[in-house]
Amino acid sequence: MSTERPSPATSHPFQAEVSRLLHLMVHSVYTEKDVFLRELISNASDACDKLRYEAIAQPALIGDDARFAIRIEADKEAGRLVVSDNGIGMNDAELAENLGTIARSGTRAFIDRIGKEGENSGLIGQFGVGFYAAFMVADRIEVTSRKAGEDAAWLWASDGASGFTVEPAPEAEAAKVPRGTRIVLHLKDDSRAFLDDYEIERVVKTYSDHILFPVELVGADGTAKQLNSASALWQRSKSEVKPEDYTEIYRSLSGQHDEPALTVHYKAEGRQSYAALLFVPTQRPFDLFDVERKGRVKLYVRRVFITEDAALLPGYLRFVRGVIDSEDVPLNISREMLQNNPAVAQIRRAVTAKMIGEIETVATKEPEKFTALWESFGQVLKEGIYEDFERREQLLKIARFRSTTGDGWRSLADYVAAMREGQKDIYYLVGESLDRLRASPQLEAATQRGVEVLLLADPVDAFWTSSAPNFDGKAMKSLSQGDVDLTAVPLKETAAPKPDATPDVADLIATLKATLGGEVDDVKVSQRLVTSPACLVASAHGPDRTLERMLQRQQRGVNAKPVLEINPGHPLIAAIGRAQSAAETAVVDDLAHLLLDQARIVEGELPVDPARFAERLNRYLVAGIGAGVGTASTVESKPA
Ligand code: ADP
Ligand code: MG
Repeated sequence: MSTERPSPATSHPFQAEVSRLLHLMVHSVYTEKDVFLRELISNASDACDKLRYEAIAQPALIGDDARFAIRIEADKEAGRLVVSDNGIGMNDAELAENLGTIARSGTRAFIDRIGKEGENSGLIGQFGVGFYAAFMVADRIEVTSRKAGEDAAWLWASDGASGFTVEPAPEAEAAKVPRGTRIVLHLKDDSRAFLDDYEIERVVKTYSDHILFPVELVGADGTAKQLNSASALWQRSKSEVKPEDYTEIYRSLSGQHDEPALTVHYKAEGRQSYAALLFVPTQRPFDLFDVERKGRVKLYVRRVFITEDAALLPGYLRFVRGVIDSEDVPLNISREMLQNNPAVAQIRRAVTAKMIGEIETVATKEPEKFTALWESFGQVLKEGIYEDFERREQLLKIARFRSTTGDGWRSLADYVAAMREGQKDIYYLVGESLDRLRASPQLEAATQRGVEVLLLADPVDAFWTSSAPNFDGKAMKSLSQGDVDLTAVPLKETAAPKPDATPDVADLIATLKATLGGEVDDVKVSQRLVTSPACLVASAHGPDRTLERMLQRQQRGVNAKPVLEINPGHPLIAAIGRAQSAAETAVVDDLAHLLLDQARIVEGELPVDPARFAERLNRYLVAGIGAGVGTASTVESKPA
């Protein structure tokens, strides 16, 4: 057959993640095997998109083979299904890189999660598994590819177990691929149904109808039948599009398998003409918290795919998926120049406003639906409060919070409507967990006065609150920073009466400052404590304590020392006062440190010196309980 010298095939192992993914693919109970075809067709379509884009600058790459198509052939006798395209193709290095590793970000997190939640969790169905899905139906795959503009054709082959080989394609195979990629699947016995014409047509119609290039079924006699409609769905009017069409194009664009939570489809005319089809997913994409914060909205220019990297939406909307197809952006603009292109900038502004507006509409009109959306993406949307000054007020209006009022979500409008008489500001407390926040001593005075406090436990909360936001003309104030005076708000009737007068504690404060000077910035009488002896707050000018802790972890902290606030009405403070009057300096020193350490513990921090803390505490425990323990047990063991 071939007269050329046989070249040895190079063997490569799969990257560890690929092996794990393949294992999951073969062993999971994932039933929708037919998605493998969607994945191969979507790759073929991407390959055509890429070449069409490259050819704008280099028309020779396309030459006279300008009609892009994706072709499917079924060889029933041999049990082989073939998917080919005349797209960009891959050379030997690209075959090894693209079909041996997983570059997609978020994949590792996904695989780890599946590992934890078990193979049968159904999670794999939510993930666009890509090329490797083909191993659900095939026990051997051969990929022959010739890159546009290059001479050599290469053959990649694998049985989906440990690795793959790459070698120059044998002549007979190479001849079948003048340009692009031809994938031969040797189907497993239980997957031979995919050789049936009707089944192929059904699967293509279900998953790939919206693919822009024709998907053709090629018969044994060489006749081709186009299976998809091959038109840009986003160019149609809304009334022509069925909900299931939206779902399929969403899944294909996002690589997720959930339903879109929100679909925004419109055409803009005017300064910029474009069609937009945008989705908010139901589930969080796996790369949502990647440091790169990349968006994935695809930019098309007059039906030609340009890039996924045009930053068409701000970072805080990076969970949105979809397509924007512009009529005005120049086709031959380089991807790098897109960022600065005025047409793109105008589209970005308009689409951002539209998207936030739609989200706001859901927030007002469909509260339940909005709660689900907020629970998935609220953390990301809140980044906009400090990044997008122009839309801060609108984002604050959309935002939902936990608070000391009930367990549900509260909007700032809810909060303002429930403000107490005499209350001027909106109060919040930032911390690391909701449970810990609910137990914070900083809340005591607010609770006593029935003042609602927003409890902010997402990492992003430490940041946006530091930009001193206002809502409805009211300042937002941290209960753990600076001075807080709630005395203008009357006590609730049920509240315990305030201690008559604050005893004179100036001396005590001076002593505490001298004793704890290395650890605290200041010592003050607290306006926010009722039942606890002490708490720590940030000084009015430094960062809030949670933010400082987060910055510390990234080695960016400013080492701001906290202010220790004391409650003169508490017996422990009174005891320190007495020890001071009696000149028992050792006792004062011990109690001062115990006071500071317990304030730290309540905040989830360690005592300054944990061993000394335990030693001091034990000393006072033993002295304090002494004989009492025996007495108590005697009383208890008495028969009734
Ligand atoms: P994804 O499509 O999300 O990148 P896949 O696993 O589906 O992940 O494919 C991996 C990579 O292999 C693609 O990004 C692409 O670079 C390459 N590839 C797959 N199929 C083709 C094809 N038909 N033509 C050219 N490149 C392809
Ligand atoms: Mg793919």
